[in-house]
Amino acid sequence: METLSNFIAGSFQPAASGQTLDDMSSVTGERLCTIPRSDSQDVDDAVTAAKAALQGEWGQTTVAERADLLEAIAATIESRLEELAALESRDTGKPFRLAATIDIPRAIANFRFFASAVRHHQDGFQEMPGAINYTLRKPCGVVGLITPWNLPLYLLSWKTAPALAMGNTIVAKPSEITPMTATVLAEILHEVGLPPGVFNLVHGLGPETGQAMVEHPDVAAISFTGGTSTGAIVGATASARFKKLSLELGGKNPTVVFADCDMDATVDGAVRAAFANQGQVCLCGSRLLVEKSIYSEFMERFVARVQQMKVGDPADPDTDMGAVISLAHRDKVERFLALAAEEGGTVLTGGTRPDLPAPLDRGAFITPAVIDGLTQRCRTTQEEIFGPVVTSYAFEDEEEAIAMANGVQYGLAASVWTRDLSRAHRVSAALDVGMVWVNTWLLRDLRVPFGGVKASGVGREGGDLSLHFFSEAKNVCVKL
Ligand code: NAD
Repeated sequence: METLSNFIAGSFQPAASGQTLDDMSSVTGERLCTIPRSDSQDVDDAVTAAKAALQGEWGQTTVAERADLLEAIAATIESRLEELAALESRDTGKPFRLAATIDIPRAIANFRFFASAVRHHQDGFQEMPGAINYTLRKPCGVVGLITPWNLPLYLLSWKTAPALAMGNTIVAKPSEITPMTATVLAEILHEVGLPPGVFNLVHGLGPETGQAMVEHPDVAAISFTGGTSTGAIVGATASARFKKLSLELGGKNPTVVFADCDMDATVDGAVRAAFANQGQVCLCGSRLLVEKSIYSEFMERFVARVQQMKVGDPADPDTDMGAVISLAHRDKVERFLALAAEEGGTVLTGGTRPDLPAPLDRGAFITPAVIDGLTQRCRTTQEEIFGPVVTSYAFEDEEEAIAMANGVQYGLAASVWTRDLSRAHRVSAALDVGMVWVNTWLLRDLRVPFGGVKASGVGREGGDLSLHFFSEAKNVCVKL
């Protein structure tokens, strides 16, 4: 069993208090490692180191030098892909195959992408009668990165890469439930020669370590990805201190299926959207809205496909779904299944504990569940479950589909499945979300805006938007 450390001012160290937390496997129930239970003292040490690093050699680096470092980081992650995928799978319970083909390759792509993006980034220049204006872009300073457990390295790299590209220094706090790959990232950044203090990692609990970061007066910006209720606390704390803030929060995303869709492709796409990563992707299509005329046929085919999914050992290459993140999270999913029944829902398939051999019988496994018969207003329809549960509804026409899709507090993403091009554009425009996919799901170009509206967040990340978030624009007006 390993003991993980914080990484502060270029050295690995325990929490100043000596306190630790256990990181438990959701696959076998065993203890995987301990992590420091950091408090405001550790956060202050990390922020002090990050502040000092801004004044040192890091503050003098050129864009080209930072881009070279990002490329070196990408290459090093790539050389350790198998090891990182195995750690991510152990720590989260997700299939190794998923970590090795999506999570870790995406972390590599994030560093490569932002190396290139910053090299090609251009800023504004405006001429006016008798004067010129130009934009200087400076790092924000010390930035705080707070990330969730569902895509640990993928999301940490999505923030770390643009923050470094723009010359900031970082204090990062990964989820206390999935601390492993963030610790390896700290090792890699050290190995490629990032100066001490540029990247600091503090492990610990959200209300202690995370809260101390958001409150710290020398942290200039907070980039937070996590749940909506946590986002409300982070937002209130950061806004009162006038920090720059990005909030990427929860979702209850609709998959909108019209009768003229390509049925085979849509069934495949809707299953993937519902259950990728055990349904634990903020973008998962957890509400399935299907046009009434094809509802029965579509649901029959959808349920048949879901029943073919193999739930079990994350290390097995044939596994489609591993364990959910923790036993406590499975309990939460099961409470929602019971609530759905009370609210009049019918379970069409799934929602049971699979019969698995030891030691997997102690893991947080649950079969993918499909529920219909629920109303639009009930809690199961309205609240984010963030697990392998999809609820389905029939709609009469386009107008009703849009009303249902928009009828929740969230507004992160949606997918629309139709062969009618005009309808695809019309419905996409009418949905109150930050991202729409037409006849696909989670197809990502790293340049495009990423983020949600309503209770799904504030601000956008991606491409230039990330480079702009992690920098301050200063206009200089020169009278000629
Ligand atoms: P969470 O909100 O419980 O925790 C996220 C992070 O915030 C963790 O590191 C946690 O320790 C920290 N935290 C908790 N309380 C804090 C506080 N008071 N101050 C500062 N930090 C605090 O979320 P989770 O359960 O880890 O992740 C699941 C949620 O994340 C889901 O709602 C999911 O939709 C959302 N999510 C959103 C996106 C997106 O891009 N929109 C991506 C992934 C996950």
